[in-house]
Amino acid sequence: MLVDSFGRVATDLRVSLTDRCNLRCTYCMPPEGLDWLPKPDLLTAEEIVRLVRLGVERLGITEVRFTGGEPLLRRELPQIVAAAAALRPRPQISLTTNGIGLARLAGVLAEAGLDRVNVSLDTLDREVFVRLAHRDRLRDVLDGLAAADEAGLTPVKVNAVLMRGINDAEAVPLLSYCLERGYELRFIEQMPLDAQHGWRREDMVTADEIIGLLKDSFDLTDDDPAARGSAPAELFLVNGGPARVGVIGSVTRPFCGTCDRVRLTADGQIRNCLFATEESDLRTALRSGASDDDLAERWTAAVARKKAGHGIDDPGFLQPARPMSAIGG
Ligand code: SAM
Repeated sequence: MLVDSFGRVATDLRVSLTDRCNLRCTYCMPPEGLDWLPKPDLLTAEEIVRLVRLGVERLGITEVRFTGGEPLLRRELPQIVAAAAALRPRPQISLTTNGIGLARLAGVLAEAGLDRVNVSLDTLDREVFVRLAHRDRLRDVLDGLAAADEAGLTPVKVNAVLMRGINDAEAVPLLSYCLERGYELRFIEQMPLDAQHGWRREDMVTADEIIGLLKDSFDLTDDDPAARGSAPAELFLVNGGPARVGVIGSVTRPFCGTCDRVRLTADGQIRNCLFATEESDLRTALRSGASDDDLAERWTAAVARKKAGHGIDDPGFLQPARPMSAIGG
């Protein structure tokens, strides 16, 4: 089991398949992109599958979420999903994606064993999309969402980050859009994880503000807290339910006390927190012939060192050196 010194157990593995992305969302990376990880540093599909197998068969991982960068850019994604789906006990398998290419791949991924998707969608306005993501790809994202739904990758969840002065007028239209189609929307507070270090607390659209914006147009009631479990989203029933909306107050309403996540970066580092400043290098060990026992021991030790909280409010808070795209969101 992956247990930390506060008794939290990590069962949810986020696996980044690449640090590359085909969008340039302002809260994540600069318009010119980043220096991508060199190819030899990336785990191969076989190495990823070996570590996922170890996590599931030996370390109690029950959920595997593939992410990035943009995971749909990883050519071997269907094979990696199929290998994860063949593990016993079979983990829940999901994907966090910007949806570009999903129209083509949703069926293939569902057949490979993918259970569901989270698609990022911050706006329904094409011009705002271009301003925020520096690419004219809104149509592809919406088509990807529809294809995921049709392929049965449900419940289709939608992630939205609101940025002041850019898309903070979109809370209500985004929720209406998702309600009409049966997608579950989650708003995520913007976190200090952008490569440009441009995050400012005073600019952040807070969970309180988001809930206020939604309450102007919808009747929101607290959902049963048991339904939340260790999930980061605070859930509300919309207009009496059953439809729900989630708000992830990562900064102002942290949920570190129930965190059950651990991350594997595309270059084979275990991170016990999004905001960790230390990593544990499984790639070097793996490529030096480490046994499963040795890898499991390193992984267990990395999780044991997990801190009580992300510390954004601590006076000495330091943003991690890796941006979100290179960690795996
Ligand atoms: N490319 C995929 C996507 O767009 O979903 C997966 C990776 S992306 C890093 C995962 C999620 O992290 C997205 O929903 C994105 O909106 C969110 N994200 C990225 N940077 C963020 C930040 N600084 N604060 C909050 N959420 C962020």
